[in-house]
Amino acid sequence: MANERLKDESVIKHWYDTDDEPITIVEGDDATVYDDEGTAYLDFLSQLYCCNAGHSNEQITAAITKQAERIPYVSSAKHNDTRSRLATDLAEIAPGSLSDVYFAISGSEANETAIQIARTVQDAPTVLTRWQSYHGGTYGAGGLTGDPGTRKTLERRAATTGVGKFLPPLPDAFDAETPEELAEQAANHVEFVLRNEDPDSVAAIVTEPIGGTSGAYPAPPGYFERLREICDKYDVLLVSDEVITGFGRCGEWFGIQTEDVQPDLITFAKGVTSAYAPLAGVIADAWIGEEIRSGSYDLGQTFAGHPISCAAAEAAIEVYRDGLIEQGSQVAPYLESRLRDLEERFDVIDTVRGRGLLWSVVFADPKTNEPFVHPWVDGNANNPVADVRSEAQERGTLFGSGRPDTQVIVAPPLCVTRSEIDEA
Ligand code: PLP
Repeated sequence: MANERLKDESVIKHWYDTDDEPITIVEGDDATVYDDEGTAYLDFLSQLYCCNAGHSNEQITAAITKQAERIPYVSSAKHNDTRSRLATDLAEIAPGSLSDVYFAISGSEANETAIQIARTVQDAPTVLTRWQSYHGGTYGAGGLTGDPGTRKTLERRAATTGVGKFLPPLPDAFDAETPEELAEQAANHVEFVLRNEDPDSVAAIVTEPIGGTSGAYPAPPGYFERLREICDKYDVLLVSDEVITGFGRCGEWFGIQTEDVQPDLITFAKGVTSAYAPLAGVIADAWIGEEIRSGSYDLGQTFAGHPISCAAAEAAIEVYRDGLIEQGSQVAPYLESRLRDLEERFDVIDTVRGRGLLWSVVFADPKTNEPFVHPWVDGNANNPVADVRSEAQERGTLFGSGRPDTQVIVAPPLCVTRSEIDEA
């Protein structure tokens, strides 16, 4: 009965915008998942861009079992050995002087925590984020989110006051001839928005280092260096939302490391445990940690840093360290080249963009060369993207849907093989 209800299309559509035939996934193994009828699917979206180590990794499941047997839960207001070791691991892999870890449960809550930290230490109310972004669905993080679908209902359900938006460094947002010009124009625009918001009122700029569900878009060269300079000039914190881009997804521990820029705060979730248990958090620069400790700031939620999740994360980080990030980096150029082949072959593909194992295939109408309009805007007329995904699923590969549904997102686990890429 419950299963029938789950298979009812209206229920599935209610929580996730997809036209794909509902399937019930019951098992997984590396980059493959199986439904309740035993059909195998290549999981080229790592479920929700989070099962970075693939499915059924025994090292991670064993760590979860061991922790559950020792002590499943310890108050988030007390010390726990697994939690402390994980905090040390995270400080070790974080870039530069980022060292202080604040645990949360979901990516949305990690961003909520980052907003609270930034507003507290900067004593300023406003946060700037970009259009075509996704930062979560809760009251505060939902307000940061800037994708066109979410925007439609955002004012009714999320905190939009105290948030300013700027344009993303995408070619259709500016009139630039080269990537360098695009970086320059897009960064100048951020400075313009910041000045007009009154820099003293701005606590932080929050941005994904590589756009995630809004279409896997890396910034043009030089953009993030300029953003860092602007933040320093106006004394504004730079927050890198690494919920998708962290833990090897883009070839390094964190996506911002592919830009060689040091943020003040990193938010993480998803891949930290390879999604074997819910865990998220913020890694803050040491000076921010000190400010927080010396103030009267009380952070924390009951299940933040849950020991079972911390055990999963500790094991996942070991798996990444023991060669999985390297393995993902080695196979990534092959994925890129196969996607570029598609770009050459099909007129309907406008562009292919991404980094590491996070890619987006953007579709455009070959007659007009215009990108297909978001289905929330035009009722999905002529937009083939959902059909492409459905057809792929029927043929045995699951892909993701960019939140403006004009693209297919390709993000397999880091253990994906070349032959799986060929098959997908
Ligand atoms: N930030 C980014 C970049 C995301 O992609 C997501 C979710 O996809 C979130 C935050 C929110 O994470 P969660 O769904 O765990 O709340």
